[in-house]
Amino acid sequence: MTTESPQPGARRSTTQGAAVREALLAGEGFRSAQDVYATLRAGGHKIGLSTVYRHLQSFTEQGLADAIHNADGETTYRYCGDNAGHHHHHLVCRGCGRAEEVQGRAVERWAGEIAEKFGYIDVDHTVEVFGTCADCARR
Ligand SMILES: [Zn+2]
Ligand SMILES: [Zn+2]
Ligand SMILES: [Zn+2]
Repeated sequence: MTTESPQPGARRSTTQGAAVREALLAGEGFRSAQDVYATLRAGGHKIGLSTVYRHLQSFTEQGLADAIHNADGETTYRYCGDNAGHHHHHLVCRGCGRAEEVQGRAVERWAGEIAEKFGYIDVDHTVEVFGTCADCARR
């Protein structure tokens, strides 16, 4: 055990944020905070689960990561490469957690139509499609 040298709070937080991002990037599909936390601990990072949650939440708020509820109702995260900050949907494998980034033009149109019909503004929606990917189906 080594003793941690004191560091300024901000710098330490940035370092941990980078570690969380890396751990998230290391996985292919959506991953739970627990999962990311386990990866970081296995890599020797001294980080708490609540810190991992905080960073994942802030990535999501900044539009850098997607958060979706998986089939078990657990919140899972993925770093959202090129689509970061753009509205899109996911086709998610229940087996391995991999996900395709997809557009849902029919959904966008439909959401706009019902909002207009009922006079709602500032509408938002969450639509994720779950299934079994071709690789998992073959197993
Ligand atoms: Zn995405
Ligand atoms: Zn799969
Ligand atoms: Zn949409």
